[in-house]
Amino acid sequence: MREFGTTVFAEMTAMAVRTGSINLGQGFPDEDGPAAMLARAVEAIHGGFNQYPPGPGVSELRQAVADHQKLRYGLAYDPDGEILVTVGATEAITAAVLALCEPGSEVIVFEPYYDSYPAAIAMAGAVRRAVPLRVDGGRFAFDPAELAAAVTPRTRAILVNSPHNPTGTVFTPAEMAAIAALCREHDLIAITDEVYEHLTFDGVPHVPLATLPGMRERTVAVSSAGKTFSVTGWKTGWICAPAELISAVQTVKQFLTFTSAAPFQLAVAYALRHELEWVGALRETLQGKRDRLMAGLAAAGFEVLRPAGTYFVQTDIRPLGFADGLDLARRLPELAGVVAIPTQVFYDEPETGRHYVRFAFCKKDSVIDEAISRLARLG
Ligand SMILES: *Cc1c(COP(=O)(O)O)cnc(C)c1O
Repeated sequence: MREFGTTVFAEMTAMAVRTGSINLGQGFPDEDGPAAMLARAVEAIHGGFNQYPPGPGVSELRQAVADHQKLRYGLAYDPDGEILVTVGATEAITAAVLALCEPGSEVIVFEPYYDSYPAAIAMAGAVRRAVPLRVDGGRFAFDPAELAAAVTPRTRAILVNSPHNPTGTVFTPAEMAAIAALCREHDLIAITDEVYEHLTFDGVPHVPLATLPGMRERTVAVSSAGKTFSVTGWKTGWICAPAELISAVQTVKQFLTFTSAAPFQLAVAYALRHELEWVGALRETLQGKRDRLMAGLAAAGFEVLRPAGTYFVQTDIRPLGFADGLDLARRLPELAGVVAIPTQVFYDEPETGRHYVRFAFCKKDSVIDEAISRLARLG
C-alpha cells in the first residue's frame, strides 16, 4: 500500500484550515439532511437500538432498498439474499473487489477515478487497467474502442461510476450500452458505483447498468445514503446483486466490519420511504448552485465544463495562463484563498488531466459567492 500515502483530500483540506481558505475541494455538503430522518436516528439510539444488527443489515433497510429499486428502476431484488447493507459505498466496493477478484485479475476503471478504487484493487492483489475520460464536446467521455482494447483474458470486472466523480459526467445510453455489450461478450462483472443516482441535472435520468439486457445477473450495484440524504458521515451503503455475488461479498464483509451501525440503518430506511421529495428539492437546489458556481468560475476566467450530475464542476485552467492543475491547486490558497482539487491525481497518466481543476458546489450560497469574489482576483 506504500504508493497510496495520504490522499490529496487530506492535503488540500489541511491547507484550507491552515490558510483560512474556502474549501471547495472535498465534496461534503455544509447543510444537514432531512430533519425527520435525523430524528429517527436519535430515536433509534434512545430506543435501545444499539447492539450488533444482523450481518446482511437491518431488514427494514433491506426492504426499503428493494422497494426503492423496484419503484424507481423496475429492478426486483429479494431483500433476503440479494441486498447487503455496508459501511458506506466505500466498503461495498472494496468488499466486492476483494470477494470477486483473484490476485492477478484485472479490473477496468475509468480515469479520473474515485480514489478508493485503485486502493481496493491493490488490496485484492488485482491489477487496474485505466481507460481515460477525455474532454470531448464539452464533457468527459471515453472512446469505446479504447475501452474494448482494455479487456484481456485476465479481466474480471469493470468499475462503473455514473454520475461520475470527479467529472460530473453521466454516461449516455450509448455509452452504457457499449459497457454492457463488453460485459456480456467477455463475461465480466460490473461493479456500479451509483452514489449520485439522485443527483442529476437538467432532467438527465440516471439509468442503472443492471436495467440493460443481460446485466442484472452480472452487476453488483452499489449505492449509499451519504450523498442522497446529505449525511456523508453516516457511512451507510448497500449492494444489490444476485444471491451468489452477494454471498461472496458478505463473506468478505463479515471479516472487514461484520455489520454496519444500527441506528443509521433505521433512519435511512425511513428516508428511502419518506424523504425522496426532500431529495428532489436538494437536486433542484444543487442545480442552482452548480449554475451559480459555473457563472462565477467563467467570470473569473476559467473554461467551465457543465456537469450533468454530482457535486462537482471541472474547469480548464489554461485560459487563465496556468498549465498544471496540481501546481495551481497548491498555490490557489495564497493566490485567492480558495481550495480546489487537481484532477490529474486521479489519472494513472496525469498528462490527460493536467490542466483541469475540480470545484465542489455542495456549499451554502454565501460560501459559493465568497469563493467567486475571491477567485475573481485571479484574472
Ligand atoms: C462519496 C463517494 C463514495 C463514498 O461513499 P460512502 O458511502 O461515503 O462510502 C463512493 N464513490 C463515489 C464516486 C463518491 O463520490
